[in-house]
Amino acid sequence: MCHTGGVHELALCRSISGIVTRAAKGAPVARIALDVGELRQVVPATLEYSWDIVSAGGPLAGSKLEINHIPGVINCAVCGQDTRLRGAPILRCASCGSADVTVRSGEEFLVRSIDVEVSNGSVSQA
Ligand SMILES: [Zn+2]
Repeated sequence: MCHTGGVHELALCRSISGIVTRAAKGAPVARIALDVGELRQVVPATLEYSWDIVSAGGPLAGSKLEINHIPGVINCAVCGQDTRLRGAPILRCASCGSADVTVRSGEEFLVRSIDVEVSNGSVSQA
């Protein structure tokens, strides 16, 4: 095992596991839709890899994560402009350079929905 990163993602996956296990009430889960804000600095591939580890051998084994990326946007208190963050989260207004900004989006991390496999083989949304 040469994979040394992903501690952050592992912790997030344990959190997802707890939420989804409670929500599914024992039903097999096929897919888990997540909202993940850019400011969370989550690496999707690492998150999926971590999910396989965390879910392995449990009731959620084999379920897939569907990651919906929420762009990071900050709003400037000085000039009122929104700045769409790209790459590194530098919390500074792109219009006037002020650091007096409020994060409007990008800090999300939530389970939006889960797809539960029901006994007749079809899939319904929980
Ligand atoms: Zn500004």
